[in-house]
Amino acid sequence: MNKVLMHVCCAPCFITVYEDINENGMLIDGKREKVELTAYWYNPNIHPKVEYEKRKESFIKYCQDNGIKNVINDCYDLEGFTRDVVEQVGKDKKYNVRCKYCYYRRLEETFRYASENGYDIVSTTLTRSPFQNHDLINEVAQKLAEKYNVKYVYSDYRHTYYEGQKKAREKGLYMQKYCGCVFSFDSGKWNY
Ligand code: SF4
Repeated sequence: MNKVLMHVCCAPCFITVYEDINENGMLIDGKREKVELTAYWYNPNIHPKVEYEKRKESFIKYCQDNGIKNVINDCYDLEGFTRDVVEQVGKDKKYNVRCKYCYYRRLEETFRYASENGYDIVSTTLTRSPFQNHDLINEVAQKLAEKYNVKYVYSDYRHTYYEGQKKAREKGLYMQKYCGCVFSFDSGKWNY
């Protein structure tokens, strides 16, 4: 059975992804397969600290309530993340460049952990959201898959977005109002 390391950006995005994989298996190369799933928390993009803690605690609660194996890579990196974004993006805060760095940073750590701990596949709940740039995520993840020699599986769960939001509210999980970084908070939009 394939061992899958699922990068989880937040609990609300994880619900429908987890439920589908748990009930029906994971869609890999057009076929459903039962897999051994581990949820992986690594999101140093989330600021400020109080927001980071709320989302992390919500992830932990959801995993505990559902008996989901998980790993917490507890990194809150306001200075490092914003410095790197400002240096690479500049004052215009172009979202596609900023988000590419953000995807790369989160997914590289996920692939590194997967490669060092015997996982066969990496995937991410970022692609549950219709507000994220799927082409960019896939481009970054595919490069990392080659670098770390771990397969990447694109989990497109956009069709479950509103169902997932409804379930998260019913379960009393924390619902964030912006994508995560200070720039997304500042812009008043989801990820621009
Ligand atoms: S808008 Fe979202 S994906 Fe883009 S850099 Fe900020 S936290 Fe990352």
